[in-house]
Amino acid sequence: MTLRAQPKASHFIDGEYVEDDAGSVIESIYPATGEVIARLHAATPAIVEKAIASAKRAQPEWAAMSPTARGRILKRAADLIRERNRELSELETLDTGKPIQETIVADPTSGADSFEFFGGIAAAGLNGSYIPLGGDFAYTKRVPLGVCVGIGAWNYPQQIACWKGAPALAAGNAMVFKPSENTPLGALAIAEILNKAGLPKGLYNVIQGDRETGPLLVNHPDVAKVSLTGSVPTGRKVAAAAAGSLKHVTMELGGKSPLIVFDDADIDSAVGGAMLGNFYSTGQVCSNGTRVFVQRKIKAEFLKRLKARTEAIAIGDPMDEATQLGPMVSWAQRDKVLSYIEKGKAEGATLVTGGGIPNNVSGEGYYVQPTVFADVTDEMTIAREEIFGPVMCVLDFDDEAEVIARGNATEFGLSAGVFTSDLTRAHRVVDQLEAGTLWINTYNLCPVEIPFGGSKQSGFGRENSLAALEHYSELKTVYVGMGPVQAPY
Ligand code: NAD
Repeated sequence: MTLRAQPKASHFIDGEYVEDDAGSVIESIYPATGEVIARLHAATPAIVEKAIASAKRAQPEWAAMSPTARGRILKRAADLIRERNRELSELETLDTGKPIQETIVADPTSGADSFEFFGGIAAAGLNGSYIPLGGDFAYTKRVPLGVCVGIGAWNYPQQIACWKGAPALAAGNAMVFKPSENTPLGALAIAEILNKAGLPKGLYNVIQGDRETGPLLVNHPDVAKVSLTGSVPTGRKVAAAAAGSLKHVTMELGGKSPLIVFDDADIDSAVGGAMLGNFYSTGQVCSNGTRVFVQRKIKAEFLKRLKARTEAIAIGDPMDEATQLGPMVSWAQRDKVLSYIEKGKAEGATLVTGGGIPNNVSGEGYYVQPTVFADVTDEMTIAREEIFGPVMCVLDFDDEAEVIARGNATEFGLSAGVFTSDLTRAHRVVDQLEAGTLWINTYNLCPVEIPFGGSKQSGFGRENSLAALEHYSELKTVYVGMGPVQAPY
């Protein structure tokens, strides 16, 4: 029987699909129905070796091409992604359960932006510098690292595959990418498109696998860099393993970000921002503003509007363009989120809306109601731990200094947001918030032009923007002596 989204094979290596049945089976499940839509195999050590060897073989010639020529291929990939947006968005929806209303505007298109941006700046973004030293001089050049490994999370499978692949390739590296075992499909489609765009074989390989497979890549001596998108505990393990052989690392990890709404804010915008920052992708977004601090004077009005708009969210079949909220990615994630909701109730938070399973959808799907808790206090579990589901915590506050301190009182430091109409306060507050990416009067917008990444336990390194090129290359300095050597002996 042909499954609904079965790819030609599990892995894409050296420009073609490759299978090795000896790998353990990975079932790809459509989260809206529980249906198995593809059956793949995790990479065996032989597949890992094949992927890394192919990348290692292909990389020097790619690095020797002019950045403009490399960029041309990446831009062609961007065009192909856009042409196939509908088909790729449907695949992303099958992979993740995210509604097509979202994937059609946010997933392949974001990947295309990434290839377009890095394809475009490859020629200008890798320049070195000239350093005058009197008679002598020096110059620097940016050189690629070699074989880079990308390891993805399940919330944005195609976007993550592109956000790591595009800057790595633009800088002259090869990539071996391992998607999450929950969402194995999207990255294969990206590899196929890069191949069609003319990317020489071996430069972007995709292999499947789980937490057993990841270490084979991270520990491999031929790998120069690892970029992980995942949870903090995984980040600690991967960074520690990479340190064993001093590999470069980028860590895009979890968060529990504060979103602060002052009483002079445009309440409708703030409610919209808070909803986007908690319910988009069914709440499975690392940068979500899951601790919504609302100044006490506007609390009642904020909650009233938030409740009405949350209860109007259309939950259901992700392939229906009217659906705004789909299922969680997996049964395990659904259970995890439901258990946090129970903890919220048990620890005394006020349930404003949601709090269970929606009754208008099939019992087989991994659905959870969009949920809002009010009167959440800093000590509650739901205010401290990353839930990664559609659960918003609303906390009260009185003054600016207090909310900054409470906003920062977390081990995470991925993102933060402020809604206020006071321009100076907005800048004063974001200046003091400990986070890598911050928003004023909006939330969760991550266009490719701006750096994205975290501080504290949320990680290090940056994706997107010129900064990402720096994380996929290193500086080489050349000192040029112009006169005779002055030796003291
Ligand atoms: P996860 O940490 O369970 O897994 C992430 C990836 O790491 C998977 O591909 C997994 O197979 C792999 N992995 C697991 N153990 C490994 C090991 N020891 N060595 C190498 N690889 C290993 O995360 P997840 O559940 O897939 O994703 C959710 C998490 O990702 C959340 O915490 C979320 O905040 C975070 N996330 C962060 C960002 C960001 O950009 N900062 C974006 C999306 C998701």
